[in-house]
Amino acid sequence: MDFGYDARTQELREQLTAFMDEFVYPAEAVFEQQLSEQDDPWSPPPVLEDLKKEARKRGLWNFFLPGEHGAGLTNLQYAPLAEITGRSPHLAPAALNCAAPDTGNMEVLAMFGNEQQRKQWLEPLLDGEIRSAFAMTEPDVASSDARNIATRIERDGSDYVINGSKWFISGAMNPRCQIFIVMGKTDPSGEPHRQQSMILVPRDTPGMDIKRGMHVFGYTDGDHGGHAEIEFTDVRVPAENLIGEEGGGFAVAQARLGPGRIHHCMRLIGMAERAIELMCKRTVSRTAFGKPIAQQGVVQDWIAESRVRVEQLRLLVLKTAWLMDTVGNQGAHTEIQAIKIATPLSVEWIIDKAIQAHGAGGVSQDTPLAGLWAHARTLRLADGPDEVHKRSMARRELAKHLS
Ligand SMILES: Cc1cc2nc3c(=O)[nH]c(=O)nc-3n(C[C@H](O)[C@H](O)[C@H](O)COP(=O)(O)OP(=O)(O)OC[C@H]3O[C@@H](n4cnc5c(N)ncnc54)[C@H](O)[C@@H]3O)c2cc1C
Repeated sequence: MDFGYDARTQELREQLTAFMDEFVYPAEAVFEQQLSEQDDPWSPPPVLEDLKKEARKRGLWNFFLPGEHGAGLTNLQYAPLAEITGRSPHLAPAALNCAAPDTGNMEVLAMFGNEQQRKQWLEPLLDGEIRSAFAMTEPDVASSDARNIATRIERDGSDYVINGSKWFISGAMNPRCQIFIVMGKTDPSGEPHRQQSMILVPRDTPGMDIKRGMHVFGYTDGDHGGHAEIEFTDVRVPAENLIGEEGGGFAVAQARLGPGRIHHCMRLIGMAERAIELMCKRTVSRTAFGKPIAQQGVVQDWIAESRVRVEQLRLLVLKTAWLMDTVGNQGAHTEIQAIKIATPLSVEWIIDKAIQAHGAGGVSQDTPLAGLWAHARTLRLADGPDEVHKRSMARRELAKHLS
């Protein structure tokens, strides 16, 4: 077993670290400033487009996508790079065209889209010209159980007609978000896992009303293009907009979520590393009760415990990436669920300790910690709540012991 990074990964890590130092970290303050000054709080400020140009010029682009359409990296090669981008999650993933939900949507189009759909939507997404959204969750039903999704997608001649409500649709508040992958029922009386389909809906299709942006712990999440509530009323799109086959929506959703979950976990590890770094720097430089705060046993316990947790998480994430490369996403199912349960919870704990070690400054706008914490906390809900993953893992574990 070799725990080292291969030569290509090492080379890209160095290039990416240089890009982060030279461009991304200095842009963080500019980003906050621009966001506070612009009229639209829901969209990324212009500094992001500058970063995208620079990243692309340096070949730091589309690392997330294995195969012919992406940069040709394996998941194992991408993991340490995604970790580095996680150190500045508001800017770096999007600067490299590796941000959710576009990554998952590009994967869907690459895997299930037909030639026309790939040309019309995948190509501009790969070029970073447009953004996209994935619309599954609904305000009126418990959406952690995808069988509940109630939006109707009904065939009418050569079109499909969509009616329903969605919310927390990431990216949708950003006018650059031009295409929506919408999940809904084409056959409500069919077998439970064959009722749903996925369909492409271009922005501004008549009947599509982007009602409001949802706040997340008070943040607009403008870096992600916000999270929108959307009403679909008799939204009509051509039948060719269906992705894959009718009734195949559940399978597409499953295929989409595997890589998305591991990407979140990779970035969370970078967020944890940044939090540990900030915690150490702050506590060695501030004195209370006659000695640096870093000399307090309880603080050393937080620091040591944080390091232990990050090392454990990274190993499991790398093993999962390696399994995805070698036995496929389905073969890595258990590990994908394990990291999705373990990583947000543990990283949330680490960031919480870094906040505590900073005192009041930790919850302020003067460090990235409050934003990192809010982001980590949401990842215990987004892409499936912890409890749902645990339920499924426990059932598979128990099945081994049922005769
Ligand atoms: C920041 C953010 C971004 C998001 N982005 C998107 C997006 O782009 N597109 C999209 O479609 N959705 C998005 N979501 C929505 C997210 O995927 C859902 O919130 C999630 O799937 C849970 O669905 P729900 O909110 O309807 O919760 P519900 O299904 O109502 O569940 C509520 C709670 O019930 C508990 N629960 C449910 N089932 C079980 C069980 N079997 N055992 C024990 N407890 C259980 C869990 O604690 C769960 O949190 C986003 C959410 C957030 C917070």
